[in-house]
Amino acid sequence: MAVPRGKHTKGKRNDIRRNLFIKEPNLVSCPKCGKPKKSHIVCPSCGYYKNKEVINVLERLTKKERKVKEKEIAIKEKGKQKEGTNKPLTLRDLSHK
Ligand SMILES: [Zn+2]
Repeated sequence: MAVPRGKHTKGKRNDIRRNLFIKEPNLVSCPKCGKPKKSHIVCPSCGYYKNKEVINVLERLTKKERKVKEKEIAIKEKGKQKEGTNKPLTLRDLSHK
């Protein structure tokens, strides 16, 4: 007969029970922008609720602009890396030309 190896501490017990009650949030696609959002809550991506603009998302644009800039920087870095890989090729091309 299987016997429990040792007593679980209160913390261990609470850890197990804590995860038993975690549920996935009920996500619904936003009718305005189509991104997943929680139901009965303003869409965080477009700021609309019941086809009305509740939050002015333009105020958040600074963060998005930062993200866009980071993406642009990453693309530029990739381009530089490509240029770095292309440099010997360009030299070969020059010798061929
Ligand atoms: Zn939306």
